[in-house]
Amino acid sequence: MLTHRRTQFLFAKIVIVLLLLDWQFGLPWWAYLLALLAYISIVAWGSYSIRSGFFMKTTCLGPPEKNAIAITFDDGPLAAYTPKVLGILEAHDVKAAFFCIGHRIQGNEALLKKMVAEGHLVGNHSFSHHFWFDLFSKKKMVEDLLQASEAIEKATGLRPAFFRPPYGVINPNLKSAIESCGFHTIGWSIRSLDTVVGDKEKLMQRVMDQLKPGAIVLFHDHGKMTLEILPEFIRAARAKGLRIVPLDELINIEPYAY
Ligand SMILES: [Zn+2]
Repeated sequence: MLTHRRTQFLFAKIVIVLLLLDWQFGLPWWAYLLALLAYISIVAWGSYSIRSGFFMKTTCLGPPEKNAIAITFDDGPLAAYTPKVLGILEAHDVKAAFFCIGHRIQGNEALLKKMVAEGHLVGNHSFSHHFWFDLFSKKKMVEDLLQASEAIEKATGLRPAFFRPPYGVINPNLKSAIESCGFHTIGWSIRSLDTVVGDKEKLMQRVMDQLKPGAIVLFHDHGKMTLEILPEFIRAARAKGLRIVPLDELINIEPYAY
């Protein structure tokens, strides 16, 4: 598997070979530029592909033999949508995981309490979910993640052990911050793009085409489209013979720190 450490090692060797060739035969300047661009491209791919495990181990899929899947929601809680999502889940007897944004918890504490009371799981999705989050220093990231955990703990009495990176991006600073906070990083196997795809049929098709045992499906509890396809998705997944189980049950990892 291509990891950040292996890539650094590989490119260190490439630079040594380039320097030797340059010394022996002379090389054009763009030979170094090409090597640099290749390195940047691989690191960018690794940062944006949470499933690659490029910077660190992330859980993106459960064991297929359970013949089960887990549903997750990011970016809530929002008073306009989260209660509706909870209503659909209750009506279909589905337990899901909510990766909450810390700053959205204030004023919505009752929603988090309701999630936990109804058997759902609450995870950390950062406090700020800032657009430039990935440019934060490690120290600022740690403060942000701990602030989100504190907001969740204050509302529910539970300290989340699961963290999902904002935008699904991981970089060396975030890896280090996650490790020092002791989080288990959760990704996904299906990114529904429920906030992007505007067509219900296309969205269902996109998700169902990728659906297989062990899947961790990413939705958002802040979109109209999610509310529209959720009941249909639950029915279609069950019609495929898949059980919908809580995320911690699917991956067999304790979701709270204590
Ligand atoms: Zn998010």
